[in-house]
Amino acid sequence: MTEKQSDVLIVGAGLAGLAAGRLLHAAGVDVQVVDKGRRVGGRMATLRLGQAAADHGVQFFTVDSPEFRQEVDGWEAAGLAFLWDIGWSLGSFAGNEGEGHTRYAVRGGMDRLMEYLAEDLTGDSAVDTDTRLVAVRQTEGGWQAEAENGDSYRAAGLILTPPPPQSLALLDAGAVGLSAMDRGILEALDYSSTLTGIFRIEGGTTIPAPGAVHRPAESLPWIADNRQKGVTEGGPENETIVTINSNATYAQRYWDAPQVEIVETMKAVLLPYLTPGSRVVESQVKHWRYAFPRHTHSQRTLRTSGTHPLYFAGDAFHGPLVEGAWLSGQAAAQALLGDADFVPGKYS
Ligand SMILES: Cc1cc2nc3c(=O)[nH]c(=O)nc-3n(C[C@H](O)[C@H](O)[C@H](O)COP(=O)(O)OP(=O)(O)OC[C@H]3O[C@@H](n4cnc5c(N)ncnc54)[C@H](O)[C@@H]3O)c2cc1C
Repeated sequence: MTEKQSDVLIVGAGLAGLAAGRLLHAAGVDVQVVDKGRRVGGRMATLRLGQAAADHGVQFFTVDSPEFRQEVDGWEAAGLAFLWDIGWSLGSFAGNEGEGHTRYAVRGGMDRLMEYLAEDLTGDSAVDTDTRLVAVRQTEGGWQAEAENGDSYRAAGLILTPPPPQSLALLDAGAVGLSAMDRGILEALDYSSTLTGIFRIEGGTTIPAPGAVHRPAESLPWIADNRQKGVTEGGPENETIVTINSNATYAQRYWDAPQVEIVETMKAVLLPYLTPGSRVVESQVKHWRYAFPRHTHSQRTLRTSGTHPLYFAGDAFHGPLVEGAWLSGQAAAQALLGDADFVPGKYS
């Protein structure tokens, strides 16, 4: 059992957590990022089966703000992000032609980008994965967090980036009192769920370029071929993985259903897209309890009142999706740097 000390503890190594961590680290603040996942990334997740890979969380991201544009330009220059499509192509993303958003994907899978973003957090900063926190407490000088494996973390400032229902559970387990207003705001930020099916195919698909079908009116609206998209790069040419994402209504209906039943309903929409002679050789289902926020808070971050420096960030703050999570993480870090109650050096 160890106690690790830092200026700032960031819970979550998803996009919001890494955006906050990088900004603070660059400003000379020691950060400790902790995530329960085996790897960094959160919902920017890639599943690897043999030599094939599939994005099984985020499928693409769009760019609206100049701040995020600048960041994505850097990811493109590093050979990671690439422009997958503009708008929705006539062939495969039928129904929304001409909408004009640039859609980016990551060569080799979203997790490559996340590993790249975590790389800099070394020296006086660190990222611990496979570490589930079970409680967060206020102490005299700041914050203390307890992990399931018995380790603990101490820091002057705290940034919580999991979906707010998960963050609130951590604070409640540590008996942290929040003002009625803060609690009301946070409890309103609930999420819808998604079921994701991953199908390894021997053969090929007829999914048109650039490698996905978008059917907004259907309960299984998203079908993507990860080889055509550039996520599966190596391995036999006749092997690919297809990702199928459900909408919230389907997820609610099938949440507790046996995997075999979910696989069968998903296969029914997949089979018409397989080339003759192709077959599904492996399948998996991922349950995303917290997939998309149903509502978002009006601000990019929330500083709780009457506590040591505590900021909430993530895709439930101001703008949803990948861009929203990134901007929220940065906003929390910026606000913490200007927080009169934040005194770095206490624990580092
Ligand atoms: C199936 C699916 C498809 C999606 N597709 C798209 C898309 O195409 N485009 C798009 O823009 N967005 C998409 N999204 C939404 C996008 O994934 C999110 O908006 C974004 O990734 C949120 O990042 P975040 O950092 O706020 O949260 P997260 O990525 O969820 O990060 C929070 C982190 O906190 C960690 N954590 C939680 N509790 C604890 C604990 N107790 N201890 C330690 N760590 C903890 C989690 O492991 C997680 O890594 C999709 C989401 C899903 C689920």
